Amino acid sequence: MPDVFADLVGQDEAVATLRHAAAAAAAVLRAAHPAAVGSGQAEVEGQPGVDPGAGMTHAWIFTGPPGSGRSVAARAFAAALQCAYGTGCGECPGCHTTMTGTHADVRLVVPEGLSIGVGEMRALVLRAASTPSGGRWQIVIIEDADRLTEAAGNALLKAIEEPPPRTVFLLCAPSTHPDDVSVTIRSRCRVVPLRQPPAAAVAEVLVRRDGIAPDVAQWAAAAAQGHVGRARRLARDPEARQRRDAVLAVPRRLTGVGAALDAASALIEAAEAEAEASVAEADAAERAALQTALGAGGTGRGAAGAMRGAAGQLKDLEKRQKSRATRAQRDALDRALVDLAGFYRDALTMALRAPVAPVHTDTAAMAEAGAQKWDAEGALRRLEAVLECRAAIEANVKPRIAVEAMMLTLWKG
Ligand SMILES: [Zn+2]
Repeated sequence: MPDVFADLVGQDEAVATLRHAAAAAAAVLRAAHPAAVGSGQAEVEGQPGVDPGAGMTHAWIFTGPPGSGRSVAARAFAAALQCAYGTGCGECPGCHTTMTGTHADVRLVVPEGLSIGVGEMRALVLRAASTPSGGRWQIVIIEDADRLTEAAGNALLKAIEEPPPRTVFLLCAPSTHPDDVSVTIRSRCRVVPLRQPPAAAVAEVLVRRDGIAPDVAQWAAAAAQGHVGRARRLARDPEARQRRDAVLAVPRRLTGVGAALDAASALIEAAEAEAEASVAEADAAERAALQTALGAGGTGRGAAGAMRGAAGQLKDLEKRQKSRATRAQRDALDRALVDLAGFYRDALTMALRAPVAPVHTDTAAMAEAGAQKWDAEGALRRLEAVLECRAAIEANVKPRIAVEAMMLTLWKG
């Protein structure tokens, strides 16, 4: 039976660290309550000479490129900490409820907008300080910890500096660069670096867990460049494949200034449409829920005051939704840019005659033609233009301006 770490693709070193820490954490609990926790497990208990707690700490940061499985790792570790056997067996109620997101002592924070605010963080820190109801650990997982506002980061830092004895914070961020995680938070956390999993490992998990045909899995794993979730979507979702095809048709279309600007518009509009589709359902559901909660249509004394409060809440909701839509748009655009970068990387490796497999097998012929026309230098300039565009958007340059500049370079070289 696969345990909770089974889906952590190609991350043997990180998994070893986390298993060790989970065992150490279980030892801490046994030392505190020899009778209550871990009874009946005398065989795994009492390894002489092991300091209970060595290898376990209260704050962790999982780093790695998008798709490497930061949040998968954090959740698996949380399950192992809540596991009745301290191993992450995958079968006990502690493992099961953590993995399905229903464990009472595991909170997952997923920022909906561009950043996690201070109010949200304060409430979370407060609740995290309470005694775990299941008798093990109180765990807070913060996805995209790089999207904390400064004030929220400070609220979190206070909790990490003086952690309640049974509270564990699991942060996920692209890297430990000061832009992503403040130096002070970083200094209080243990870092678990994850790497970009090799395509073969991604393909293997798509076949084993998702039942995808091996040839489709291999193609999707290569095209997704080590991003497990993206590979799964490409393998399963025809719309995701169509969007990718449209992006990879861009290089062929760049025949002049007008065409380059048209391509920029098309790319931006496609990202907007994709983002709109992805948030529309959640937006409508939230608005309906809020209106029901506020009892829309009330009259009489007090109703006017209630309506003023309601207007404020509705405005709040709209603000959150707008911020979420902006993020969805940026994420969609970024996925397109990653696909495009893969194409120019293929052209570059072909021009260099490097013995590596292409990212996009289905556009390999076009990349080969590009390699002959541009040489290595021209391919590199184009690859750099795509990477610069991503960096510019990340640094808040208006997407249209960044994408237009990129398209012009992709055309001219
Ligand atoms: Zn378990």
